[in-house]
Amino acid sequence: MLQSVVSSLARRRASVAAQAWLQSSVLSSNLSIISQEAELQAGPSSSHQPALTRTLSSASGTENNGEIRWVFLGPPGVGKGTYASRVARHLGIAHIATGDLIRDEIKAGSAVGKQMKDIVSHGKLVPDELIFKLLEQRLQAGKAAGEKGFILDGFPRTQPQAEAVLGQLHPQLALNMSLREEVLVEKCLGRRLCRHCGKNYNIADIKLPASNGRPEIRMPPLNPPPECAPHLEQRPDDTEEVVVRRLQLYHEQAAPVEAVFRRAGVLRDFEITAGIPETLPGLLAFLQPYAGAAAAAAAAGSAARTAVGTSAAGSAAGAEHGGRGSKVVAAAGGR
Ligand code: ADP
Repeated sequence: MLQSVVSSLARRRASVAAQAWLQSSVLSSNLSIISQEAELQAGPSSSHQPALTRTLSSASGTENNGEIRWVFLGPPGVGKGTYASRVARHLGIAHIATGDLIRDEIKAGSAVGKQMKDIVSHGKLVPDELIFKLLEQRLQAGKAAGEKGFILDGFPRTQPQAEAVLGQLHPQLALNMSLREEVLVEKCLGRRLCRHCGKNYNIADIKLPASNGRPEIRMPPLNPPPECAPHLEQRPDDTEEVVVRRLQLYHEQAAPVEAVFRRAGVLRDFEITAGIPETLPGLLAFLQPYAGAAAAAAAAGSAARTAVGTSAAGSAAGAEHGGRGSKVVAAAGGR
């Protein structure tokens, strides 16, 4: 029954839901996923709509106080999580990955978690309504814990999600990461997770010569230390069939998502061609002006959204407002 309700919710016009969500300023009452489940079971009624409206604004504050609010975009396998976690640690802000939130919910074994498991294992997208709710809870928890700023990884993935983020969270930067298409499947299939310490590794050893004007790619494996080696596991959705489906879905959704941020003047492209040691310093240097702009806006204590979201961040990267922005190719080379 829940399955059919979830499918029917997914079929509903997501843009209508997002529109309502964007327009309302009703404060959230810290709803749990369990109550979301009750709403799903009750079916797509008019009472469902208000729940959608109580989302990120109450969790994070609609104003932007100069905190870093960035989103990292890119296909499965590009390294969004790898770089978002490192950059977030470097800046002392939160790394919030919707994929992790979903996996935690699945692990918790709730009824909604079971539905999500089915969706994720088929390489499909979890309905926007559920993602909004998960993210809201995570942002509220972060706010309560005093988190100052965040990088969103894996969110947004659809146009309604992108419009919601832009309208509610006012991100100053949407970093659009790319990697040659031929490498993405291999990178996903090479991913390994230590079930003891939770660290991520990648056993894929990638060497791709330059072709068609694209640079050479060298990405040596990120091998686990001996203590993790016996405990490695693969994500159940990292099979070739599911990865191919996820990539296909990503390409269907990417253009409208990018368009939302491009129109807002906050989209910046960053191409990856090498491993972490070569890429991370270049990425941090690329991001520095945006972090500086956010800090300056916080110090000024006002008009942060305008200063950082458009003119300051845009000029920091030397990009025109509304343009595609500067494109950076991370330095190639061995690890
Ligand atoms: P990847 O970036 O490699 O696809 P993630 O961990 O970000 O991995 O996501 C894993 C799965 O979780 C996705 O394939 C999708 O089913 C689901 N998911 C994650 N984020 C979202 C989102 N923002 N909207 C809908 N589904 C999502």
